[in-house]
Amino acid sequence: MSKLTIRDLDLAGKRVFVRVDFNVPLKDGVVTDDTRIRETLPSIEYALRHGARLILASHLGRPKGKPNPMMSLKPVAERLRMLLDRELARGENVGFSPDCVGPEAEEVATQLEKGQTLLLENLRFHAEEEANNEHFSRQLANLADFYVNDAFGTAHRAHASTVGITKFLPKSAAGLLMEKELQYLGKALEHPEHPFVAILGGAKVSDKIGVIRHLMNKVDSIIIGGGMAYTFLKAQGHEIGKSLLEADKVDLARQLLAEAKKRNLKLLLPVDHVAAVKPAISAVVQQIGQGQPIPADKMALDIGPKTIELFSDEISRARTIVWNGPMGVFEVSPFAKGTFAIAHAVAENAGATSIVGGGDSVAAVHAAGVADKITHISTGGGASLEFLEGKKLPGVEALTDKR
Ligand code: AMP
Repeated sequence: MSKLTIRDLDLAGKRVFVRVDFNVPLKDGVVTDDTRIRETLPSIEYALRHGARLILASHLGRPKGKPNPMMSLKPVAERLRMLLDRELARGENVGFSPDCVGPEAEEVATQLEKGQTLLLENLRFHAEEEANNEHFSRQLANLADFYVNDAFGTAHRAHASTVGITKFLPKSAAGLLMEKELQYLGKALEHPEHPFVAILGGAKVSDKIGVIRHLMNKVDSIIIGGGMAYTFLKAQGHEIGKSLLEADKVDLARQLLAEAKKRNLKLLLPVDHVAAVKPAISAVVQQIGQGQPIPADKMALDIGPKTIELFSDEISRARTIVWNGPMGVFEVSPFAKGTFAIAHAVAENAGATSIVGGGDSVAAVHAAGVADKITHISTGGGASLEFLEGKKLPGVEALTDKR
């Protein structure tokens, strides 16, 4: 990697500001899923073991620049304390600052001793965070000697805690989780083993145009499922009934299909479908066989068995697999089969490097019980999509270059 990582910093006795992604779900003031907290433990553990004085900062939810007790990180501090105690037997050392900047935060940050951890209150309680405000960035920087970014999920945003702060500290490095994300995604795009298969799904073509365009230069095949497939099928002249359609993207879909053909790139679309009047659990489900039109009053909500076979076969031959977006409305059980089947197909290809990103596909591999068979599950939905589009992530660009 061309950027410094936490392993390049001399941490002993230094105050280290680590931007983490503790944007976890809360219910009645209790963390209901601590995956994101657990994923940062390697960096936290590394920093503490090397004698850092650790300052952790994150956003949680969308408080719109104002303090909101419902989005306080206080319950996260409690969970972190518990996890550190369980994993590292050092839970007693997690402090909490009720504001992320200002005299109180500065005082506790100054008093922090070697091997102690301080979690700051929600960065987004200040509008200056998302505005990447210079004064606020400087206030954050005042708390520390070094900066580490371990929040891949917000690396595509230029905020004070992801970009602004780096201007005021001598060294800014990637955390271990960030490093892992960049290594897997970077290798897949720069030095993939072939065949390289991209699986794209989800609702909208418009969200994935950039990814399709960029991946066309890299992959051997693109599998398109989910709602976005129907704009492509429409472009090919199929009857799609009431299936999701982005009418203003039909021409673009046609161009992308022509481009794929010109490049000799396989672009696979659903050949059969599971349809219903609406995506409801009680809906009467109709199987639409290969070559049959989707009835005018129905929408295709999942891929059918022939498509599962076609896609799984392609996936089984891959050496690199990138998957982003579900194959159907998998949240509603009658339409989950296609997405789960693809999750299994990806997991069963043990010889391939498989990378799954995007909230829905990540949820699908967990729900299918195959998460442990995926090489890398990305923690950043939007950030991983932007990476796959070939965009530079501001939070990564801002880190110090290795010399
Ligand atoms: P995205 O955020 O673009 O990745 O889209 C995810 C959403 O796409 C999920 O909520 C799915 O329910 C939805 N989706 C997937 N397939 C279909 C489909 N065939 N018709 C309608 N919505 C779909």
